[in-house]
Amino acid sequence: MEENCIFCKIINKEIPSTIVAENGEAIAFKTIKPIAEHHILIAPKTHIKAFVDLKNEHKDIFMDMINLAIKVIEENGISDGYKLAMNGGKYQSVPHLHWHILAGKLEDEDDILNQT
Ligand code: AMP
Ligand code: ZN
Repeated sequence: MEENCIFCKIINKEIPSTIVAENGEAIAFKTIKPIAEHHILIAPKTHIKAFVDLKNEHKDIFMDMINLAIKVIEENGISDGYKLAMNGGKYQSVPHLHWHILAGKLEDEDDILNQT
């Protein structure tokens, strides 16, 4: 738990969010600002700042994130068309590691998901 981290607060249920699934080490919740029909975030329950901070000791956390992402993709019926994206460094606005699962119509009309 990192003080002032919005995702740690979501994980600790200190601020409201729409949690869609969770397992031992990972949580899936809806973004407050969706850019696609399906836009769900996958985050570790442990505060890890960014992709480049991942270490061997985080293997179990990483596997739980992978398993949870697969479950969310399958349960949303988007296995035939989804994106799994991760921002880092200056592109990452919330400094708590997370993946974006995106599917369905995107705001960006040039996006590959809108050309199918
Ligand atoms: P990024 O720019 O990759 O760091 O993505 C941050 C994501 O967190 C965006 O999709 C934001 O809309 C989302 N976000 C920020 N604050 C909240 C919040 N309180 N609840 C849910 N999603 C949030
Ligand atoms: Zn955090």
